[in-house]
Amino acid sequence: MSDSIIKPAKRTQSITYAVRDIVVLANEIAKSGKEMLYLNIGDPNLFDFEPPRHLIEETYKAMLKNFNGYAPSSGIKSALEAIEKDAEKKEIKNIQDIFITTGASEAIDICLTALLNEGENILTPTPGYPLYTAIQSKLQLYENPYYLDESNGWQPDIDDIKSKINEKTRAIIIINPNNPTGSNASRETLQKIIDIALEHNLVIFSDEIYDKLLMDGEKHISIASLNPEVPVITFGGLSKNYMVPGFRIGWGIVSGNKNALKDYIEAINKLLRARLCANHPEQYGIAPSLLGDQSHLDVAIKKLTSRRNLTVEMLNSIPGISCVEPRGAFYAFPRIHNIDDDKHWTEELMKETGVVVVPGSGFGQLPGTNHFRIVFLPPEDILEKAYRAISQFHEKYMNKFKVSL
Ligand code: PLP
Repeated sequence: MSDSIIKPAKRTQSITYAVRDIVVLANEIAKSGKEMLYLNIGDPNLFDFEPPRHLIEETYKAMLKNFNGYAPSSGIKSALEAIEKDAEKKEIKNIQDIFITTGASEAIDICLTALLNEGENILTPTPGYPLYTAIQSKLQLYENPYYLDESNGWQPDIDDIKSKINEKTRAIIIINPNNPTGSNASRETLQKIIDIALEHNLVIFSDEIYDKLLMDGEKHISIASLNPEVPVITFGGLSKNYMVPGFRIGWGIVSGNKNALKDYIEAINKLLRARLCANHPEQYGIAPSLLGDQSHLDVAIKKLTSRRNLTVEMLNSIPGISCVEPRGAFYAFPRIHNIDDDKHWTEELMKETGVVVVPGSGFGQLPGTNHFRIVFLPPEDILEKAYRAISQFHEKYMNKFKVSL
């Protein structure tokens, strides 16, 4: 028998996904019997968050009615209509197409694949959600990060965006509210991004998967609501707002100038047809979710606000750590000052305390800065325990590595 190695494709070489990669080491440590506190995965169902009951009931009924075959490639009619109604509430203008996918993840993959040729680039928010860079590696694009400004509540740095555009730039991604920083983009910032997109003929990908999870009464603005001509694909889904990430239901809403978008929409639909359809019975949960009772959101936002407050207060009281207040989603992205390597810091933290967080480098960050991402979904007692452990660990770490606070 030959012992030749099967070589994987080069396009997989630089694919990483820090949120789950960190679990490999965490599982090793857990084997030694250490109690672990997992603050790495944004899954509300692991804690005291539940989807609305009517969403589950309608999905279950669909399964019992045997709607278990293939669905149309773009999705079932009642769900598409509900997404359109919700988009109209978000004041998204000039909608040209809507399609349902296996999580927003698949919509993102399909829309990037249908637009970009090898060697082209997309302006990508940094820090940002690592799926975007993973797909770009797969498509053999070169990375074109733009930075979010920590000193300005993590708003996109408009000057940095302008300076990064070149003749191969085809699109700009915004994640709003942002993962990992929890920032909510201002109208002014969004307007400037539209101006840039129109000037340079860029498609805007607006990831709004957390749009209903804003705190402090803050309003979410869909970038597609601000201009009817600019080509935008707004990504959404049930995973976060409706707390069923395991359903794998997401969507894309294409809006903007009809003529400019027609070939691109056909390319997207070719890919949608080739993969048949998204999960079928779960699509029956979309209309009841979007159009039904929303009271689960009040309950969730109340919990998230008090957990966010605790997070910001406790982390900011640790010498050498600072944390910008998140406004939405359920993540914070605190900065660790005066260290060289956040991956080393998070690994040591995990070994010493069992607290699992994701290193900032897994989301991208301004060179020379170090961060970690915390998921503040767990109840206050767990968070308090984790932050106390981080505080004690950090002091020891800085002493051990001889860094002054
Ligand atoms: N976009 C962002 C910004 C996310 O944080 C996530 C998941 O964490 C996704 C997309 C993936 O969403 P879905 O579960 O719908 O695939």
